[in-house]
Amino acid sequence: MKKTSLKPFNSFGVDAYAKKFVSVNSEKQILDFLDLNKSEKLLILGAGTNILFRNNIQYPVIKIDIKGIEIINEDDKEVLISVGAGENWNELVWWCIDNDFGGIENLVSIPGNVGSAPIQNIGAYGKEIKDVLESCRGVFVENSSIKIFNNDDCNFSYRSSVFKEDLKNKFIITNVTLRLSKIHHKINTEYSSLKQFLKENHINKPTLKNIAESVSKIRSKKLPDYKKTGNAGSFFKNPTIGKSKLKEIGLSFPDLVSYNIGKSKYKISAGWLIEKCDFKKKEEKNVSVYKNQALVIINLGKAKGIDIYNYSQKIKESVRKKFDILLEEEVNII
Ligand SMILES: Cc1cc2nc3c(=O)[nH]c(=O)nc-3n(C[C@H](O)[C@H](O)[C@H](O)COP(=O)(O)OP(=O)(O)OC[C@H]3O[C@@H](n4cnc5c(N)ncnc54)[C@H](O)[C@@H]3O)c2cc1C
Repeated sequence: MKKTSLKPFNSFGVDAYAKKFVSVNSEKQILDFLDLNKSEKLLILGAGTNILFRNNIQYPVIKIDIKGIEIINEDDKEVLISVGAGENWNELVWWCIDNDFGGIENLVSIPGNVGSAPIQNIGAYGKEIKDVLESCRGVFVENSSIKIFNNDDCNFSYRSSVFKEDLKNKFIITNVTLRLSKIHHKINTEYSSLKQFLKENHINKPTLKNIAESVSKIRSKKLPDYKKTGNAGSFFKNPTIGKSKLKEIGLSFPDLVSYNIGKSKYKISAGWLIEKCDFKKKEEKNVSVYKNQALVIINLGKAKGIDIYNYSQKIKESVRKKFDILLEEEVNII
């Protein structure tokens, strides 16, 4: 089989080759593929917007292109929709808004596929997919058995799930079922920049569409378009620290912003930490951070995957040295 360039299949736009590359558009095709590739290590690929290839991939890459959106149950109040893993997430959000189905409007404009969304429990502007996910169906790579994970089985947490931890590259999600509202939508405007945007634009009783349009506009100012400037969104997770650490940093940096997440734990901005380490002024081998958001590492054109990785590790080391905080990657490093 001919090796395939993965450049069109990753939002960093780095060049790497897959020894073997297969696109599948049904669960049956996955089962056939697993039959022929027994006990081989695999890389499961969606739209490649949360992945960094450091090197060529010497094992098969299976790209999930399963399509289809179907209403599988509904009553007066709610609807259950079953969506193929290869559907585009943002298009799904707009399909829901057109149908007046509520629950994922705050998650508009997040790139990537529907089947990848549960992997890191995508979240933005006060919502996460775990808030509406009913179940995920898929196939175990090891023995081709099929399993449906209910919401509780997915072990969702901040930017993680069982699929990103114990089952990484071991379970292929083929289908995702969401439970959405048809009436009395729970409109969530709590996220501060969204609240402010709505206020400034005199939107007092926002509809689902108002929320999606507002979030889209806010996002487009903050984040680079990966089709023009290679990136994978936030490179690191926002760290959680304790009260004494918060006090310690606050003494030297009074502009520190934190969110109390309970039990004397505080979430602080990884982007802020990176900015304080002066990375907005550091460019190396065609890699830098984005001018409006230091948490986003960008490919200035010809960076190699390994250059992006090395730059990210320099950030990690600087933050560790300056603040004694260890950043954890959100992007999947391959
Ligand atoms: C500009 C930009 C903004 C972003 N903003 C956000 C944001 O606000 N919030 C957020 O949470 N994320 C954000 N992201 C990250 C990214 O969009 C999400 O993580 C998205 O869900 C990734 O989807 P993908 O199809 O591209 O996944 P990929 O990058 O293809 O894969 C991601 C991981 O999931 C695994 N995987 C993919 N598909 C499957 C499957 N069917 N079964 C099992 N494993 C699978 C892969 O092996 C890999 O480990 C952003 C990215 C970009 C580029």
